[in-house]
This record gives sequence, C-alpha cells and structure tokens, in this order.
Amino acid sequence: MTPRAGEQGPALQTLLQHHPYRAPSGFASAQLPTYRASTVLFDSVQQMRARNWRDQSGYTYGLHGTPSSFSLERRLADIEGARHALLCPSGLAAITLVDIALLQQGDQVLIPCNAYAPGREFAQRTLVRWGIETLIYDPLSPESLRALLGPRSRLVWLEAPGSVSMEMPDLRTLVAVAREAGVRTAIDNTWSAGIALQPFDLGIDVSMQALTKYQSGGADVLMGAVLTRDPALHEALMDAHMRLGLGVGGDDVALVLRGLASLPLRYAAHDASARRVAQWLQARPEVAQVLHPALSCSPGHAWWARDFQGAAGLFSVAFQPDIEAARIDALVDALRCFGIGYSWGGPLSLAVPYDMAHTRVPPARAVADAGSLPACLLRLNIGLERSEDLIADLQQAMRVAL
Ligand SMILES: *Cc1c(COP(=O)(O)O)cnc(C)c1O
Repeated sequence: MTPRAGEQGPALQTLLQHHPYRAPSGFASAQLPTYRASTVLFDSVQQMRARNWRDQSGYTYGLHGTPSSFSLERRLADIEGARHALLCPSGLAAITLVDIALLQQGDQVLIPCNAYAPGREFAQRTLVRWGIETLIYDPLSPESLRALLGPRSRLVWLEAPGSVSMEMPDLRTLVAVAREAGVRTAIDNTWSAGIALQPFDLGIDVSMQALTKYQSGGADVLMGAVLTRDPALHEALMDAHMRLGLGVGGDDVALVLRGLASLPLRYAAHDASARRVAQWLQARPEVAQVLHPALSCSPGHAWWARDFQGAAGLFSVAFQPDIEAARIDALVDALRCFGIGYSWGGPLSLAVPYDMAHTRVPPARAVADAGSLPACLLRLNIGLERSEDLIADLQQAMRVAL
C-alpha cells in the first residue's frame, strides 16, 4: 500500500519514504533494485505485439521505461501535484523537449530576459532555423508580456526566480496574461525543486525540473523531468520524447531515487543556511545588494512570499559599483570552503562570478528595471557545510581580495 498525500494524510517527507514497488516474496530489500535494460523479454509474439510503448502498465523496451524509471516519474509527479512525468538525460534536454513538442514552424515562443541562458540560446539559435521566432520579455513587467503576445504566440516560458539575477516574477499575473491570450505556459521550476512551489495550482501547464540539482543532491548525476496535469499535453510530450530517443540510464535513476528520500530535509537545510549567509553578506559594506528572493530587498520578494513555501540555497551578490570584476574573481580564487564550478544543489558550496553581459539579454521592450544590474554578479550555491564556516571563509576572502 502506498500512503496518499491528503488533508489528513501523511506529509510529503513521509510519503517519499514509501513507493509501490514490492520485492519478490522471500527477498525484502527496502529499496527498488537498479533495473538496467535495453531488451525487455516477452512471453510470446502475441504478447509482444499486444504491448504498446505508450501504455505504462507494461514494458516494451529500455528506452520506453523500466520499473524504476516509472517509479521515479510517479514520485516526481506526486511531489509537484502533476499527473504525468517524463525523464530526460539533463535539465537542458527537458527544456528542449518542451520546445520541440509544443512548437511548430511559424510559432512564437516568449522567454523571460533572465531565463537559463542555454535554454534561451536553443530557441534563438536552433528553433529560429525551423521558422520559430523567439520574443524576449521582461518578467517583472506583465505589460511587457501582454504587449508581445499575438496570434502566432504559442508558448510562454516562466522561470522563478530568474537565473543568476534572481528576480522573482508575479507568476499569477503572467499566467493570467498568457491565458487571456490563449497561450500555454511552461515553467523552469528547478529552483523550487517542486517542493517550494506548486506550479499546477497556479494554472501553469508544464513544469520542468533539472533533477541534476536537489533531487539528485549529490552533484554526480545529470537528469531532467517534464511534468504535466493535462493528458493531451502529456501525449504530445511523450510522442516527441520517444521520437527524439530521450532515455535515462538505470544507475542514474537509482541515484535520483536515493536522493529523493531526503529531498525535503536537504532543501530545508540548504534554505536555512543560505538565508544566514545572505543576511550576513547584506550587512557588509562591500555588498550593494543580495539577490535572494526571501530577503525583502530582493526584486519580487512579495511574489516569493505570496507563492513559495521555501527558498533554495542558491542566490547572487551584487558588490559596490567601485569593485571591479577582477576583484570579484580574486575573491572567488581566495575562497577555501567554496568550490569553483557550475551547477548547484549538491553538498559542496560553490561560487561562480557571472559576466552579466553574457548571461542575460535585453527584453524586446525596455522597462525601468533593465540595466540596473552591475556588470558582474557573484552566484553562491550554499551546500551542507556549517554556515558559520562559510561566513568565516567569505570574510577572509573579502579581506584578501577586496
Ligand atoms: C541547471 C539548470 C538547468 C539545466 O540542467 P542540466 O541538468 O544542467 O542540463 C536548467 N534550468 C535551471 C534553472 C538550472 O539551474
């Protein structure tokens, strides 16, 4: 029996310790085994012909799912309140799957100016070759979105908060604007890990996750997921997923399943530690602004407070304008507890200086807020070290470099 989440039912944290798999009689392993498969055997030709890859009640081929990949999809859908989930080999592959499944020649896709840059570049460099136009809007101005929507608009991407610059948009109003125009919405929901934000309750059509981050939690797996409530949308996504040959390895599935059991606890720990570090940084004279949605000075804080139940351990720091980019590089080089490297969500704290000229594009219609960011932002992933040790490390590095 699998406990169900409900009004009086068990908490997510409890639910994540349970799954429908039952070990064969006489062997009571507590966790799912690692299923590796290309070939799946059938009892007869008749059974093989009767089996349909779309129907998850049976197995046809490793690429189309195994007991553990179906189980992971089920648990991810439960976390976000979705009905369907599809696994992809990376978060970026999940973004491109949504684009390929839902867009066709002549369509327009609308992307916020602070979106995850490789996803935006796929639209601007690859989709454009297939006759699909990308329009960049300012996520802090629902009016800038409304002004760009037209009869060819097919998909509005949302991201909360924006990558690196961390602005939190008013998701409810952006969704309402897209709906008024009859346009679907998809959200890059990676920062919330699906537990701090429930996108389907806001009327968003598709949610995308980079499981590479908190769901894996180990900084050692690449995986993504696309989630939906709508069966027709799921059909379209599943079709493209199959035609593109997107599959994930059984060992990677096992690692993410292992990570999921501790996801809410890790997320809360990263959140609490990151807020301590962010608050300390905010009080420093070298720091102009800490871009962390849970801090009241951060752009869109009110929307975070309204829609989110927590925050990730990922935020950015803007230094005083007289501190040049080279000194921020030197600060990162002087850190001892923070690794230098991309990605986030793992146990090791990371620091990356971002040149904003290459990270962000100007929206199609200029708005007040555009251009107010400094040329360089320091992005921090707060891992599972003790926050006092991270603060002491930042303090010594700032003393050395600034
Ligand atoms: C990391 C990330 C992705 C891409 O995930 P990969 O698994 O690295 O491809 C997409 N969106 C956001 C917001 C991310 O942080």
